Formats: sequence, C-alpha cells, structure tokens
Amino acid sequence: MKTALRTVDSPMREDRRIDLAAANAALAPLSALERIRWAVDELSENVVLLSSMQKTAVVLMHMFHRLGLPNEVLFVDTGYHFVETLKMRDDYMRRYRLNLVTLYPASTIEEQERVHGGKLFATLAGQPECCRMRKEAPLLAHLAMKRAPTLVNGLRRAEGGNRRNITPVSEDRRTGGYQLSPLYDWTGTDIATYIAEHDLLVHPLHAAGYPSIGCYPCTTPVQPGEDDRAGRWRHLRVLNAAEAPEYCRINYSDGGGI
Ligand code: SF4
Repeated sequence: MKTALRTVDSPMREDRRIDLAAANAALAPLSALERIRWAVDELSENVVLLSSMQKTAVVLMHMFHRLGLPNEVLFVDTGYHFVETLKMRDDYMRRYRLNLVTLYPASTIEEQERVHGGKLFATLAGQPECCRMRKEAPLLAHLAMKRAPTLVNGLRRAEGGNRRNITPVSEDRRTGGYQLSPLYDWTGTDIATYIAEHDLLVHPLHAAGYPSIGCYPCTTPVQPGEDDRAGRWRHLRVLNAAEAPEYCRINYSDGGGI
C-alpha cells in the first residue's frame, strides 16, 4: 500500500495535512465508528461514503446514521443495476434518513451502445472502458466539485488480492484527498455479527448465491467452493482467465487510475 505524501498540487497541503503513518497508528486500535468520527473531525468536512448496497456498505451506512452525519452517501447508478440494488438504496435512504446522492454516467446505456457499436461489457477490451465511463467517471466528476474529499469505502484486508495491504487511511491522488477504510481489519464474521446485532436489511441476492453484487450483465451466483468474487465478470474469465478483471477499479486501492 502506497503511503507517500500527497501530490504537489493537492489542496490538502494548504490546510489539514496529516502524517499518514501517525494517523494509521492512531486509527488502528479504534473501532470502525471511531475511525469515521476521526475522519469527520480531522480530515475534511467533505467526508463522503461510497455505497454499493452490499453487506459492508449497509454496515457503514448504519454507522453514518448512528453518528447522525449529514455527509453524503454516494451511489453510482450505472444503469445496469439489479432492481433489488435500487430498492436497497431507496429503503436505506428512507429508513435511516441518509443524505443519499445518486450519481449518473454522462450517457445512457443506449447512447453508449450506439456510440461504441455494441455492449462494451461483453468483451475484454470493452469492459474497462464501460466501468470507467459508468462508475469511475461519475464518481470522480462529483468529487472534483469538493475540496480534498475523504472517500469512505468498505474495503477489507480479508477480501485478499490488492486489498490485503490496505490501511485505515491513505491518500487518493485522483482527488487530492484521502480514502478511509474503517472496516479494513474486519472479518466476514464481524460483518455478519454487526448486521445481526443491528437487524440490518441486507441485499436479497446475497441469500440467492451472490456474495458479491455489481451490474447484472457482469454478476452471476457462485457455486460451492468458489471464492466470493468468482461470480464477477465470469463471462470474461471464460474468454481469458488471465486478463479477466478482478475489480472495476472504482476504488483507488484496487488500482483506479490517476
Ligand atoms: Fe459495465 Fe459490467 Fe463494469 Fe457494470 S460492471 S460498468 S456493466 S463492464
């Protein structure tokens, strides 16, 4: 995990600079709730949560509610979501009175398919551009309107892959701000326990064999013995397992480009 100082033109340099090593040492023993509180107090008024409506996201949305935060909860509507995902967004917005902001890509899926001559998600070459246009671009366009935002995510070390080395807080060179991963040290059991203790509504597709849920063209259930992300972009893995994506890169920690 890269923990170098922020880039030269980052607006964070002008005011709330933090020592990342010291901040991570201070955050490690805190609870997830305390880590979010710390970010709101120490980093920026622009602390926003990126929600996928999956299990870690419902934990974090509930924590925003518990803290009484008016901060934005961002949901990127790619146009390809399961209807159950959209219902989760609406249910959480109403139940917990969250400041839920839905972001949209610049083009509709019909416009995108017309311009690109087909469905980008169907090919190894097209998928990265589809994810960039429908996920990353709307998110970064929204964050660009904020001064040094801190993006709260649900990434966990236990998920493996690129996420194995994430730290509680890291810089986000895309925005000049930070990424906060309050659940970075949580296990799957920790997530399940929190959801049970607080009787949280969870995405119904989790119970239907979907441990990881993204856009419907790129998400399938997993079979017994498969890892949790085996159902994502399965159609591309069939084409070429070595080049198939593991992540959509909307999270900077997963390699989102600068
Ligand atoms: Fe497009 Fe699939 Fe990425 Fe969704 S997950 S943005 S449909 S390539």
